[in-house]
Parts: sequence; C-alpha cells; structure tokens
Amino acid sequence: MNPDVLSVLKNSFGFDSFRPGQEGLIDAVLSGRDVLGIMPTGAGKSLCFQLPALLLPGTTVVISPLISLMKAQVEALHENGIPAAVLNSTLTQQEYGRTLYGLREGRYKLLYVAPERLEAEGFLACLSQVAVPFVTVDEAHCVSQWGQDFRPSYLRIRDFLASIPARPAVAAFTATATAQVARDIVRLLDLREPEIVRTGYDRENLYFAVETPRDKLAAVKAYVRQRSSRSGIVYCSTRKAVEQVCEELCGAGIRATRYHAGLDEEERRQNQEDFLCDLRPVMVATNAFGMGIDKSNVSYVVHFNMPKDLESYYQEAGRAGRDGERAECMLFFSGRDVAVNQFLVDNSNDELEPDVLEEVRRKSRERLRKMTGYCHTGECLRAYILHYFGEMPLEHCGNCGNCLQETQEEDITTEAQKVLSCVKRAGERFGAVMIVDVLRGAQNERIRTRGLDRLSTYGIMKGDSAARVRSIVDHLLLTGFLRATDDQYPVLRLTPLSGEVLFRGQRVMMRTVVRAAEQPARKAAGEGEERPELYERLRRLRARIAGAQSVPAYIVFTDATLHAMCRILPQNRDDLLEVPGVGGRKLERYGDLFLTEIRQYLQDT
Ligand code: ADP
Ligand code: MG
Repeated sequence: MNPDVLSVLKNSFGFDSFRPGQEGLIDAVLSGRDVLGIMPTGAGKSLCFQLPALLLPGTTVVISPLISLMKAQVEALHENGIPAAVLNSTLTQQEYGRTLYGLREGRYKLLYVAPERLEAEGFLACLSQVAVPFVTVDEAHCVSQWGQDFRPSYLRIRDFLASIPARPAVAAFTATATAQVARDIVRLLDLREPEIVRTGYDRENLYFAVETPRDKLAAVKAYVRQRSSRSGIVYCSTRKAVEQVCEELCGAGIRATRYHAGLDEEERRQNQEDFLCDLRPVMVATNAFGMGIDKSNVSYVVHFNMPKDLESYYQEAGRAGRDGERAECMLFFSGRDVAVNQFLVDNSNDELEPDVLEEVRRKSRERLRKMTGYCHTGECLRAYILHYFGEMPLEHCGNCGNCLQETQEEDITTEAQKVLSCVKRAGERFGAVMIVDVLRGAQNERIRTRGLDRLSTYGIMKGDSAARVRSIVDHLLLTGFLRATDDQYPVLRLTPLSGEVLFRGQRVMMRTVVRAAEQPARKAAGEGEERPELYERLRRLRARIAGAQSVPAYIVFTDATLHAMCRILPQNRDDLLEVPGVGGRKLERYGDLFLTEIRQYLQDT
C-alpha cells in the first residue's frame, strides 16, 4: 500500500484505519483501474473516491444524482480543508461562471456535477482544458431500469466518458445492486474489467423491529417522545402524511421539521439545515429526503408507512447509526400500506415500451411481496433482509424485534375452524373487519340489516379480543387457509386448504408473542458514558464552533469523536491526534480549543 494513503487518511479525513472494502477499492483506483463498489449505506463509500482524488493529479469529477447530497459532501470536504466545488442548477449565473473559472484554473481536487450537466456545452468545453484522471459515479444503480431508482439522465454518462480525450479511471458506487443491476452498471457505464468489491450488507449496530399499531399516529408520537433527547427521521409515503405527523409531533412539543417535494425550495433547504444542525432533531419526510445525507448521529429511523421494496427500506433505515453507535429502525405496518403501494405499481406510467413496462411492473410487484413478507415474518428480521440481498446470515441475530420477543407456538385449530365456517356461512361476501365483528357478536346496523346476527357463528368468539381474532384471520391469510380478493375492498374467501381444516383434521399452529421485545436502548447523549460532564462541555463547545461557521455540529466532530475524547482525555496535540476522527486539518483548526476545554475540566474536578 502506498504509504501516502495512510497519512492522507489521517491528516485529511481524521481516520486511523480503513473500513471493510475501502482499502481494496482505493488501491485499485490509484493503480488506474475501473472499480465497482457495492457497500451498504453508511459503509463509507465517499472516502473511496475522495481519498484517491487527493492523491491523483488534476480534478476528479463526481457524478451524483441529488443536489442536497452534493452540497453536504462539499461542505464536509471544505471542513477538512479539501478544495471542492459543485456545479448544478441551483447556482446563480455568477456562481456558475466563477466555478467554471476555478475549474479551468485547476483549483479543485473534486468537482461534483449532476448528470444533467454532462451535456452543458460551457461545462464540456471547460473540462476539455483540465486534467481529469478519475470520474466517479455515485448511486450508480440509477443507471439500471432494474434498479429501484432508474434515472434516464444516467444513461448519458457513458457518452460523456467517451468524450474525454484521455479516458480516466471510472469508479461506480451503490448501496444495493442485485447481480442483474451490477451487470447493468458495468455495461451501461462501460466499465473496463472493473475491480468489483462487495462488502456484506449487515449493519450490526442497527436494531430492527416491525409493529402493527391500531393507531399509528399515537404510536409514532409515543415512540419519538421516548427518545426526546435524540435525533431521528420519520419516513412517510405521502406529503399529506408528512404534514399530519409533523403537526402531531410539534403539537406534542417535539422539535420536528418536515421535508417533501411539495414545499418550496427555500423551505426545504431551511428545514434540512435545521435538522442537520440539531436545531430540530426530528425530521418527518417523504423519501425525497435523505439520499446522501450524512448526519452521523441519527439514532432512529421510523417508517410510518411500509416502503415499496426492501431496497428502499434498507437504504432509508440505514441512515440511522452511521456513527457506528447503537441505533433503531422501526417500521409501523398496516395492511393499507400494501394496497397503496400496489396501486402505485399498477399505475406507474414511466415512458417505457409496453413490454418493458409490464416486466418492470412484474418485478416491482415481486419486490413489494418480499417487503410485505418482512412485515409479517416471525423469523429474524435481519436474516430476512440479508437473505433478500443474497447473503447466508445466521438465522438468529439476537438484535431485532423478532429475535428478542418471547414467542410460543399455539394450537389454534378450533379458532381457525370458527373463523372459516363464519366466512363460509356469511357467503364469502365480506371483508375481515365484518367477519371479526360477527364472530365477536358485535351489535351494529350493518350486521342487523344483513341478518348476520342470525348466523350460527354469530358471537362464537365473544370471549376473544378483537385484536386476537384479527390476528388469527391474518394468520390464516398468510398461511393460505384463507384468501382475500384483489378488489379495492377485499373480501375473504375460502381456499382448497380451508376444507382440510374444516373437515379433515388439519391442525393450525400460530406463533404468538408471550413477551414483547425490550429494546436495548441506545444511551442518550452523554448518559452512561465516561465523564458525562465533560461530554456536555465539549458538546457545547462544538455547538458554538458550528454555529459560528454555520455548519452542522457533526461536521466539526462527531459524537463518537467527543466520546473518545472523554475516554482518552488528551493533554496535548499528540494525544489529540490519537483520537479517532481528529485529523491534521481539524487539529489545526480546533485542537487548542478542545484541549483548553479538557484542561479546564480537569482543573475544575
Ligand atoms: P456511504 O457508503 O453511505 O456513502 P459515507 O461515505 O457517507 O457512506 O460514510 C458514512 C460515514 O462513515 C461518514 O460519517 C464517514 O465520515 C464515516 N467513515 C467513512 N470511512 C471511515 C473510516 N475509515 N473510519 C471511520 N469513519 C469512516
Ligand atoms: Mg454515499
């Protein structure tokens, strides 16, 4: 390994060692090879192109799909003293001109551009005058129709690469790529014998759980409240839900803000800023928020609605715990989420050829089925996800809602028979809600007018709670002893398997929860850590510095770095350099301030 690499790692980025996958990718790029890096969200893909960019002569071009993403990365680079710039549609003409000028002067080590820029003539002319040793395509799955975020503008990248006189090394990065998407990336970007590095998908510090609350709004409020000192993201599938949840949280005195495509640009920018700076530590957003957001202290991600596929889910949930500390991913599920996603799939009208469109929809439906399965499974949730991405994980992770709850297998044959015969006697014409009501002997207008109170099965499950009867119905649906029609208001029908239970002695078993999982909670900031008082002082110092420079606090130092300072108690600059997250540049800028604070603390105590 090039000895410069380790010193750049420490001095420019403040890291002491590589994470899995990084070293191999960086080596390959530095020796002029193309690479494809497939590493989960939060694994540290940015470093794999930022570090080589510093060692290569000339300007590295980074193609990235989202404006917010580019801005955040460039800000972080500046903080580390690395010259970098952005070219995208948000710049004023003057800023744009100035950036092109800087580019021509060779002033930047990294230039971030949106794929749409790749055709702008001014830009191309300018680029032809600078040395471009290396081009990176971030979020490279966007180039594939089989990926979950196809962006037609990514298809232009290949021509762009071909137009550069001396073809640079090309790197592509993504968090999720099935074998097919990976092949597409190589082909559509024309990567030449790339070094392909795939690290495991597992994120050990994340805790996964699924719940099916009756009242999601109340559930999300309670959840966020219990974590009031921490930063989190609540994802909703619609703008309307974002508004509703955000209002509910703010009404409960929680400092939440919101983000969706219906807000004007200024408000989006402001809200994102408030969140990044922890002024409003809770973000309620649609999936328009977050790609490339690197806020390291997000300690939970709640999904208020089930997303359309596990790729999206894992990417969004993966924004929790980037600092490597314990973090939680909670999904609040309801059957409606499935129906809404189904509708979106069936009505997507991409400008695709009809047969391609049909194939895309078929794949989307399949993905949705797998996502729904995640919400219903009683098995280990982490294992379910990792299986989906093609890994062979342990069957029991011990750190998810399913592994930690105590369940018990129960024979529910008698109850199942009651449910099935009720569905049959009611004429297979009603949905789950009505069937549950009839079984429990509810008294209402709809039941009386339809004469359902005269059925022999009326009230035969009076003694069971509605939730229990409903969970039995759901279980029968899942296991194929019942089915629901595809209509807008699904109706329960019997299946060939129903007869086995009703007449031929087939037993039905169901796992029920005896004791709900107790989440191993992440410690609140400072709590339970070494020297909480010092931590608080350092945190306040960091907030002052961040405020003065209007950058998010974690860009100055992450929580993990502050914790390490409390543990190590550095007394001088050499000690301070030992702390993970402290590099040469940050030592120069902030070292003395933090050392003074630590010395002060030692004197005071
Ligand atoms: P992604 O793979 O999702 O693009 P990022 O590149 O945004 O991930 O990195 C996620 C986090 O990991 C960032 O906060 C980054 O500073 C940190 N990180 C990256 N590489 C290292 C390393 N070698 N040591 C410690 N932290 C690292
Ligand atoms: Mg990234």
